[in-house]
Amino acid sequence: MRLLIFADIEGVAGVARPEQTEVGGAEHEAACRLLVGEVNAAAEGALAAGVQEVVVVDAHADGLNLPPEALHPRAELLNGRSFRLGLAPGIAPAFDAAFFIGYPASPGSAEAMLTSVSSPARVLQGVRINGESQSRGSLDGYLCGYYDCPLVLFTGDATAVSEMHRFRVGLEGVVVKESLGPCAARSLHPEVARERIRSGARRAVERLGTIPPLRLEGQLELEVDVAHPAMADSAERVPGVRRLGPCTLRWVSDDYVELYRCLSALVDLAGLVA
Ligand SMILES: [Zn+2]
Repeated sequence: MRLLIFADIEGVAGVARPEQTEVGGAEHEAACRLLVGEVNAAAEGALAAGVQEVVVVDAHADGLNLPPEALHPRAELLNGRSFRLGLAPGIAPAFDAAFFIGYPASPGSAEAMLTSVSSPARVLQGVRINGESQSRGSLDGYLCGYYDCPLVLFTGDATAVSEMHRFRVGLEGVVVKESLGPCAARSLHPEVARERIRSGARRAVERLGTIPPLRLEGQLELEVDVAHPAMADSAERVPGVRRLGPCTLRWVSDDYVELYRCLSALVDLAGLVA
């Protein structure tokens, strides 16, 4: 069995401030050690439950957060930034299951902390599909599901985990901290968080087959809120995009990968004027 682990940093125990999540920030290196601890715990649990192959995707910012030598020796690392990598085709189809470690809640929810969707929070203020608010976890989860790769374990703060249960009831969720506002949290001790993730990973692998892939079918209406009208001016150049308001853009497709591609393009174009 082959497992793909996506590693983000905002939802890791002990991470609460932007200085910890920004590459080059004063606390970033220490936060990366916390991240790798949780990723390794997930790999250990999965390997103990019979997984044969583990590939870890460094999925935060430019993909330079996980020190290769600190990673579990049985895991391979996929890092760096690539537009193709962001889309996951060529990756997810080859795997039997996915774990999302350290994921944030969706921007806009009252308890969300250090929120981002697939770009820095300074660009994206919200993403909806068919009127339903999305998080980074749901967007990436649908992408894996498109390739028949079920998301079976999700870890992060209590808000992020409960949001994810809304998208996939029955998913293994591990809460490692409680948000106390946008930049404050009450976290488990890293060792306790890792132990819970290890157990959750083992359970998730044992339950594989009972947790179906996340899927979206039919006509998909994407709505994106960006932070500033000038960002919407820039992103509006994508063919087929309609402007719904000063900061809101709309795009329709019946194919989820096309939608994800469009979202990435909108975010990159909007980011040019950030
Ligand atoms: Zn991140």
